Amino acid sequence: MIRSHTYLDFFPYPTFRMKQQEIIEQIENAARLRKNILLSAPNGTGKTIIVLSALIPVALEQKLKIVYMCRTHAQSDRVIKELKKIYNSSSLKSSKVSGISIRGRGEMCLHHKLLGSKMNPIEAMSICKTLRSEKDCTHYRNLENITEGFKESESVSFSYPVNGEELIKFCKEKRYCPYFLSKLLLKEVSIIVCNFQWLFNLD
Ligand code: SF4
Repeated sequence: MIRSHTYLDFFPYPTFRMKQQEIIEQIENAARLRKNILLSAPNGTGKTIIVLSALIPVALEQKLKIVYMCRTHAQSDRVIKELKKIYNSSSLKSSKVSGISIRGRGEMCLHHKLLGSKMNPIEAMSICKTLRSEKDCTHYRNLENITEGFKESESVSFSYPVNGEELIKFCKEKRYCPYFLSKLLLKEVSIIVCNFQWLFNLD
């Protein structure tokens, strides 16, 4: 396969830290060969940017998505921050380097019945379902209308990476449901940043 891009197109800093370039090349090569690779390195190595700049060219070339799993929101935000640096510095500046960090329904819901209620996810899911079926959630209906029944996302998509908080802020202004918007955007973004639990609990 012809390589259209390499990590050099996506690495946003003027210089590499010690060993960074070597590790990026190893990860990029392993990904191209669909091999697993494990990186363990101390703080300050620049692991986030290593992984992103190694995998983005492969993902774009092979039309794959990157699912970046973290433990905390702060870690997810750091990934989006690095992605923004890539987006702003990439010579290929385009919507292809797009990404979102997503959160659970309990944290994204803007309906007054669930907002800040700290309900367990199953209860929140059940209430959300009832509100939607009774057409009692304005945020859901607004999103449904603007996206023509969740069939198109152009009017609500971002061409740049956004974190969970930015997505919620945008939805507050527009009165859309952030949770269902994030689900809709999963189809089109190249990089999805989320908590480990999403691997086991898809709701
Ligand atoms: S549709 Fe969205 S805003 Fe409405 S209740 Fe469900 S999660 Fe909350």
